[in-house]
Amino acid sequence: MSLPDFSKLGFAYIKTPYRFVSEFKNGAWDEGVLSGEENLVVNESACVFQYAQTCFEGLKAYTTADGRKVCFRPDLNASRMADSCRRLMMPVFPEDRFVEAVKKTVAANKDYIPPYETGASLYIRPFMIGTSPILAVVPSSEFQFRIYTTPVGPYFKGGVKPLSLRVSGLDRAAPRGTGNIKAGLNYAMSLYVTMDAHEKGFDENVYLDPGTRTYIEETGGANVLFVTKDGKVVTPKSDSILPSITRRSLMYVAKEYLGLETEERRIALDELEDFAECGLCGTAAVIAPVGKITCGDKVVAFPSGMDAMGPVTKKLYDTLRGIQMGTIEAPEGWVVEV
Ligand SMILES: *Cc1c(COP(=O)(O)O)cnc(C)c1O
Repeated sequence: MSLPDFSKLGFAYIKTPYRFVSEFKNGAWDEGVLSGEENLVVNESACVFQYAQTCFEGLKAYTTADGRKVCFRPDLNASRMADSCRRLMMPVFPEDRFVEAVKKTVAANKDYIPPYETGASLYIRPFMIGTSPILAVVPSSEFQFRIYTTPVGPYFKGGVKPLSLRVSGLDRAAPRGTGNIKAGLNYAMSLYVTMDAHEKGFDENVYLDPGTRTYIEETGGANVLFVTKDGKVVTPKSDSILPSITRRSLMYVAKEYLGLETEERRIALDELEDFAECGLCGTAAVIAPVGKITCGDKVVAFPSGMDAMGPVTKKLYDTLRGIQMGTIEAPEGWVVEV
């Protein structure tokens, strides 16, 4: 296979030579193998197809400024996937083995880790599917855990462009109580709402709490951070939000590296106009600045505007990027060599 042009990557699947594949049968995971085969043969009645018994994770491997090949806090992806599996009646792939399998898969595809200068990275997608043919609504008894990798370009490719969001009238997650798992079913339920937002000129939806529809939850694939006018970093507290590893890392950075006050609490829709800055956080962008949020006929424009990152957002971004890239000392265990 010829290597892609790392300077021209977007966010799309490109086949890489190896993926990790492990099967769960008779109550146990096998050892797993690195496979060259990217296609799966799965029964038409598999639980994944009929009842969406599947979940996934997402993280990146990249080259640091001093040339190391690393990934960021893979142990947190392992424990979050274990939580998703438990909620979906899937067997946990042991967390230590998850981290080893991620490293092994990345190492096998190391030529596809883009160099530091490109700002690109190797996206890692672990996922699990229920493979048993079922018809009754019961969990699968057999599963496949797989990790593939694909090189992706930098998020801020054409420069930083703050986003315009809208508050959605529909729920983010499919059934109540599944918003805190990383699963395709939540994404499937967001497709209609997301495409509708795009058609109307918005970049993303902000979802409200399903119970009262008065508190900010998150967007389709990213958590939300706000900066108050006196420089405090606040993020919504809710148990129906997916616990973003980037958000947790940024809150730590805000407090421990930048000496900012931080707070995790419920954030009412009515409070939006009190904030100075807003950003979306996730593995893809670290933080994508938000310039405005529309709710019905009300538009809240943040003082940081539609042209640049707000000053606190920028500091958070630069510090976490510095930690990831090895130019700022990382807390123990955050940056893991593959
Ligand atoms: C993956 C994801 C995020 C971001 O989490 P990170 O661990 O920071 O990448 C946020 N919200 C949802 C719904 C997600 O699926």
